[in-house]
Amino acid sequence: MKQSFDDSDYWKGIILFGLNAATYKMGLARTLIKFVRQSKQQVSWDELSAAYLNQYIERLATGNMPQQGNPTRLTVMERIVTQLQLGNITLTEAVDRVSEQAFVDVVPRFQTIGRDKNIVSGHFYDIKQGEYLYLKDSLLGFNDEQLAELDKEVIARWSLLEGAFSINQTQFELANDIREIYLKDGYSRRQLTNNIPFLTGYQGNVCFYCGEPMPLDDIHVDHVLPRQVVMHDEIWNLVLSHGDCNLLKSDKLVGPHFIEKLIARNENIMGSNHPWKHKIATALGVTPIRRGKNLTQHYNNVKTVLGNNYWGGAAGYNPATDPFYRKLITVLNNSR
Ligand SMILES: [Zn+2]
Repeated sequence: MKQSFDDSDYWKGIILFGLNAATYKMGLARTLIKFVRQSKQQVSWDELSAAYLNQYIERLATGNMPQQGNPTRLTVMERIVTQLQLGNITLTEAVDRVSEQAFVDVVPRFQTIGRDKNIVSGHFYDIKQGEYLYLKDSLLGFNDEQLAELDKEVIARWSLLEGAFSINQTQFELANDIREIYLKDGYSRRQLTNNIPFLTGYQGNVCFYCGEPMPLDDIHVDHVLPRQVVMHDEIWNLVLSHGDCNLLKSDKLVGPHFIEKLIARNENIMGSNHPWKHKIATALGVTPIRRGKNLTQHYNNVKTVLGNNYWGGAAGYNPATDPFYRKLITVLNNSR
């Protein structure tokens, strides 16, 4: 396996492993691809704004899917496109608003993988805020075939995000009810590192998610069901992972295969004589069947709250069987 990234790896890292609270990155990705196809090296802020606006006009005309998950809100881009379509603002005004309001976050933050701001910083473009964007050879060097593939991936990703946001929106009230139940019984975050020796005993020295070995100074305790939903640090929900896997997974939903793996891990603890097994019995039940059911119920609750916002984009995604992901982790670990 090659241990360094090429430009298309970096691009995929941004598109597939970005943190996406809205679809802005996808809009910018398609805008950039368009300029690469025109072999533009320097793009004025106005050109960029107009092209970005066009992406959203086209996108919202075809599906009119939500561009973020909260039904009580609209993204800046949805508001601008709506105002334009209602005739409340002219096209020039719309472009100005895009340049003033929409780019504050996305243009500076696009070149990020997960939360890592260093690895792809300035890799594809530089900016003079409010004036120009300069495309680099790393971007201009993609050939037509590569561009077609990258664009296809961005479009697919955009659709996935919209689908997840749409489910979030229809389940919004139910999701709030579930959040409140967990909040009621929740407690503030405890010190987790004291669980490491115990958990290592049931997991070995490999990351729960990607299966790569964990260096001794990079073992993190991760909540499989995100803490921001379940609001507790119960041992049955804790696993060990790389710091970067922890960050990349973030508050996303894992696929059911990881829930099966977690259930099996917990049953290993139950089969041992470790005193902490009583904690699991108290939290989830005294029989394996009951424990499995209860854990699955928590998983379904979390799914309702987070929508189909799966890590890696799909329920079946498994970083351990994704060579690109394993390479990403190796590169991130080596760059620390
Ligand atoms: Zn890992």
